Amino acid sequence: MKQFLVRICQWFITRRRGGRYSEGDNEKVRCRGAVMFQPLLLVFLLLPGPARYCAAKYHVAHTLRIAGLFEEGSPPEWAFAFQSAVDAINRQTASWAPQRVFRPTLEPVLRTLSPGDSFGTGRAVCNLTSEGVAGIIGPRQTASTDIVRSVCDRLEIPQVVTNWDPRPPLRRAYQFNLHPDAKFIAQALVDVLRELKWRSYTVLYQGDESLVRLRSVLQEREPRDPPVAVRQLSQDGDHRPLLKEIRQSGETRLVLDCDTDTVPEVMRQAEEIKLIGVYQSYLITSLDTHTLDLGRYQQSGANITTLRLVQPDSELVLKSMQDFQYLRTAQPIHIRPETLRTETALVFDAVHVLANALFKGSTAQPVREQRLPCHGGVGAVWDHGIGVREFIRDMRHEGLSGDILFDASGSRVRFSLDVLESSSSGFQRVATWTPQEGFLSSRTETQAQRQTQSIIEGRHLIVSSRLDAPYLRMKAPTTPPRVGNDRYEGYSMDLIANIAELLNFTFEFKLAPDGEYGTYDKRKGTWNGLVGELINGRADLAICDLTITEERQSAVDFTMPFMNLGISILYTKPEKPPPNLFSFLDPFTIDVWIYMATAFLGVSAIFFVLARMAPNEWTRPHPCDQDSSELENTFSLINILWFTMGSLMGAGCDLLPKAVSTRLLAGMWWFFTLIAIASYTANLAAFLTISRMESPINSVQDLAKQTKIKYGTFGRGSTAAFFKNSNDSLYQRMWIVMKQARPDVFTDDNHEGVERVKKGKGNYAFFMESTSIEYQTALNCDLRKVGGQLDSKGYGIALPRDSPYRTAVSGAVLQLQERGNLSALKNRWWKAPEGKECDEDDPDKNSTELGILNVGGVFLVLFFGTLIAFAVSVLEFLWNCRKIAVEEMMTPWEAVVSELRFIVQCGLDAKPVRRRREPAPSDCSDSRLHYGSLCSSGRK
Ligand code: ASP
Repeated sequence: MKQFLVRICQWFITRRRGGRYSEGDNEKVRCRGAVMFQPLLLVFLLLPGPARYCAAKYHVAHTLRIAGLFEEGSPPEWAFAFQSAVDAINRQTASWAPQRVFRPTLEPVLRTLSPGDSFGTGRAVCNLTSEGVAGIIGPRQTASTDIVRSVCDRLEIPQVVTNWDPRPPLRRAYQFNLHPDAKFIAQALVDVLRELKWRSYTVLYQGDESLVRLRSVLQEREPRDPPVAVRQLSQDGDHRPLLKEIRQSGETRLVLDCDTDTVPEVMRQAEEIKLIGVYQSYLITSLDTHTLDLGRYQQSGANITTLRLVQPDSELVLKSMQDFQYLRTAQPIHIRPETLRTETALVFDAVHVLANALFKGSTAQPVREQRLPCHGGVGAVWDHGIGVREFIRDMRHEGLSGDILFDASGSRVRFSLDVLESSSSGFQRVATWTPQEGFLSSRTETQAQRQTQSIIEGRHLIVSSRLDAPYLRMKAPTTPPRVGNDRYEGYSMDLIANIAELLNFTFEFKLAPDGEYGTYDKRKGTWNGLVGELINGRADLAICDLTITEERQSAVDFTMPFMNLGISILYTKPEKPPPNLFSFLDPFTIDVWIYMATAFLGVSAIFFVLARMAPNEWTRPHPCDQDSSELENTFSLINILWFTMGSLMGAGCDLLPKAVSTRLLAGMWWFFTLIAIASYTANLAAFLTISRMESPINSVQDLAKQTKIKYGTFGRGSTAAFFKNSNDSLYQRMWIVMKQARPDVFTDDNHEGVERVKKGKGNYAFFMESTSIEYQTALNCDLRKVGGQLDSKGYGIALPRDSPYRTAVSGAVLQLQERGNLSALKNRWWKAPEGKECDEDDPDKNSTELGILNVGGVFLVLFFGTLIAFAVSVLEFLWNCRKIAVEEMMTPWEAVVSELRFIVQCGLDAKPVRRRREPAPSDCSDSRLHYGSLCSSGRK
């Protein structure tokens, strides 16, 4: 029965092929026959069992030829991968036979092409098709690929290529490219550059192909991005002169696009000329960089970023290693997951993709190759071509190069690239890039933090600084002399020691030779000071009172500010005014005193006139004498002055007005004195108790307004730059004044400025940063800060541009700030030495005590007032004595003696009335002859 079925099949096949039948085709023909006649057999064979048996028999016997085209000189791994894949598939086919899962066996056909020989390529592919081939893999070179493609497209035979094609996506009919499209690779590079935040870099390329590859990378740049240098690697393999030039230009970021095998040589030469180190970063475009041994360069701290398509740790790659080991070849090839290159993996995947499509087709309708000569008649195409092509298009495959999916034009649209970054332990995946989602970071926050910390750990860093207390100063000399970091102390030393402890690195302080902060010399195009030290690679960090400025930030990087400050004015404290004896006059200005005196006299005069005019002010001399022929007015000029004076002093007076007009005037005067006394008393307390220190300047505006006090600043620092570059008209004006001032008001350092303020005794004010002013005013009690801050900025630790230590050091600064260590450090270094602290300007303290010098003037007034009163009383006494002498007809001397004798007799408290010797009139109306105010007293 078995033999009978086979015979029937063979008979039909040989008939269909025009009676040609070769012994070599035996199995194949039998299988095709079986497939073609399967439905017929089923009709003939009523029982399903024998039908299945027959079909199975012919499937096993069926083979499909697939060709691998490789150019001479191609890596042997490609042909090896091709054969290994076919071998693995056939082994699997064989292993499934016992379970009655049947599929054709693949027959690998390898052809080697001469590169550049188009004719040979065409002949080779035509030979293949005329012998019959179910699919072609390769070749690699663009020209050969195009010849094969045109043949395959015409004969409808699928072709799978694995090379990078720099041309824009083609409309391919039967060609599929497993290599990610050039546009995707370019986009991935653009995204990685963006993530790396590289805006300026140098591109090193090998050949024209690289330029084509990088064209879109360069085109994607933003218009405001700085220009990129594009340099070609030398053809003779000596890249040193070029690399030296790049090093001298200060470039630290390089994009390297060359053959994978050229990379180690370029890196070796770069290392020779010291273009590989912590500060250099490389982006290597080869997808096989990870297969190279670059450990030496990674250890140097250089940051190497690259992309890869094949994940060496994926399950499929690990499994495929067995397939590679199975194959026995004349020259054994050892492929390990870490050394598996992209194109080797793609050839392996191409065989699988093609086989899968052929097998899928064979389950529906058995696929078999046809002999198709290139020059056959029109319409001689492979019957299964369209079907297999559609299978490849619709298929989603998982290969060594990841997910595989093609679009209608045969370009690979589904794949994922790993973004790798070098670390001391080799390349680490930090992100993935897919055409659909772009750049996706795969690093967690802690991993990223750990990574940044590991860069600095264990390193020995050079810290550049300058001497300026309290940031850094020399310690007192000792014997034997101190060495290394032990020579210095200060805030900067403590700060960096704290950071080093957190990040686990060691450091060494080096003073900047010129002692400058860092200014840019436009003429020479160079930086000096600390910034220059960083730029020239002589230091890793720079720390002192280095202000973060935009100009400096364009040349170096800064960490988070560790101190915040602003520009302010350093000036001398105003002299305390000497105590003023007459400070009781201070509550009113001299004008007010004059106005008050004028008011006093004026009101007295008006009062006098009103009193004389008002009838009610004229009264009888004695109330009991109603018949008096004269009226008297109490408000004589003397009495009025006494009245207004009494009111003004708050003492009152026994003379009171009686008329309405005089009362009204008196009322107004009392109101005036009430307010005047209240104001005086209120002000007096303040004026007597607070000794006001007058300062000629209290703000920058005051300083700008005047010309007597000169002002200046440190000439080569950020403070001077602030005035120079300010848009504010006030500061611009002040900058011009400073520039034109003679003698020069700019100083060589802040210390010189402080000395000038001290010696200037109020004639020089110095613009300095508030933190330094705080320090100086804590040490020098006669200095003070005037006004507020003109701006707001910070001190930061500077690092060379793109320093890999920046994130870690910045993080450490933040940590110290949060823990309060920074303020503790400041308190420590900003404190005056014990016992030398300045007294606080405490207004309460000044106001509590009043010395005799403050109130002495009042005593003086009392003293002189008393003296004048005494003098007047002497005059009154002498005048009285003279009168007595005339009336008593005695000598003036006798009168004085008798009066004095009476005065010194303290026991006598009554004085006899002196009477004329002449018969005295009894009329008590003679007011001239009485003592006392009551004429009727009649005292003895
Ligand atoms: N700290 C300033 C600087 O970094 C110096 C200054 O202007 O006071 O330039």
